[in-house]
Amino acid sequence: MPTDQLHIIWYPDPVLRRKARPVVAIDARVRAVAKAMLELMHEAGGVGLAAPQVGLSWRLFVANPTGDPQDDRVFINPVLSDPSKEAVEHEEGCLSIPEVRANILRPKAITVTATDLDGKSFSLTSDDLAARVWQHEYDHLDGVLILDRMQRIDRLASRQMLKELEDSYEATK
Ligand code: ZN
Repeated sequence: MPTDQLHIIWYPDPVLRRKARPVVAIDARVRAVAKAMLELMHEAGGVGLAAPQVGLSWRLFVANPTGDPQDDRVFINPVLSDPSKEAVEHEEGCLSIPEVRANILRPKAITVTATDLDGKSFSLTSDDLAARVWQHEYDHLDGVLILDRMQRIDRLASRQMLKELEDSYEATK
């Protein structure tokens, strides 16, 4: 699919549940997809977007926790390490599950190591919003959604919206 046709895939499309495969070569296609994903993320007002959310089972995500264009960053084959013992709860949304928000408990601090578009390895550590974004996006690469991490009360509150998304997915199949 040409990258200008990439779009954000919504729950319950099964691609969101697949475990993504490592990116084996950083070629022109990967660069074009990453650029398109950053554009889609900004257009949607998001702070992160993972490749499965545009229908590609690749271990790649983009993130920008500040919204400042120079903070756009691409994470290829990311690995998370050194999660803090301290966990914090914070409200999260997901561009693939519109209108659903939930308080999700995650380690406050984490380190991410990944490869950038030039093929260079880099590591970043955060104990702030970035740490949460990396963990949320990393989850997508393993087919994990906030639905799997939300508490019962948020699950109940989201039930109607999820049903609507499921019905509209069925209708377009
Ligand atoms: Zn998400």
